[in-house]
Amino acid sequence: MTRKLRSEILSLNGRDVPVRVQLSRRASHISLRLDERTGEVDLTLPTGVAKSEGLDFAHEKASWILRQIDALPEPVPFADGSVVPVMGTDYLIRHRPEARGAVWVEEGSLNVAGGEPHVSRRVQDWLKKTAKREITWRAHAYAHQLSRTIARISIRDPRSRWGSCSDEYALSFSWRIVLAPKGVLEYVVAHEVAHLVELNHSARFWSLVRDICPDCDVSKYWLKRDGATLHRFG
Ligand SMILES: [Zn+2]
Repeated sequence: MTRKLRSEILSLNGRDVPVRVQLSRRASHISLRLDERTGEVDLTLPTGVAKSEGLDFAHEKASWILRQIDALPEPVPFADGSVVPVMGTDYLIRHRPEARGAVWVEEGSLNVAGGEPHVSRRVQDWLKKTAKREITWRAHAYAHQLSRTIARISIRDPRSRWGSCSDEYALSFSWRIVLAPKGVLEYVVAHEVAHLVELNHSARFWSLVRDICPDCDVSKYWLKRDGATLHRFG
């Protein structure tokens, strides 16, 4: 069981670092972990260890913590000159204020018309639309293979999951999986579609996933290792 205490800002070698302190009955020692999505540090204390002792420990490990933070990938804004990957292909964002239209693809670039303040939203809208299209046809094709019907597909931006399946046969996906390689998007879709048959992670569930997505193990590993990097865009 884990109990969260208040987050605090620690000053480590003159830099402010947000730290979330939590108590855990299962922990056997003090531990530190960087949350790659938020840049916050989780400090876990076993029961019986005072918070002040944990904070001393964090101060001792200051240079290790700061090295981890510095190694995080830089955020990539949706702005002129940024490069965004779409299903394994890199696109350069080019702001074209003089052009008419909204967003269009041209020779490896993503062109965005209109005023500067709208560029970011327009790119994000285009990515969401692309995600919805690429996810939807695959989901229906996979569902057909398993003789199931999908009630609804929605595209969202959850913080910690790439997809979900409700017991009413509604699937939901993060639009950010369109930023991952194509095989990873296919795996996430296959995973949720397989839940239409098995609402669990049993051996039978994984064998269904492998039937419709033979390379799923590679993609699962990619998500585990690199999935957090999809949150640095936009
Ligand atoms: Zn699952």
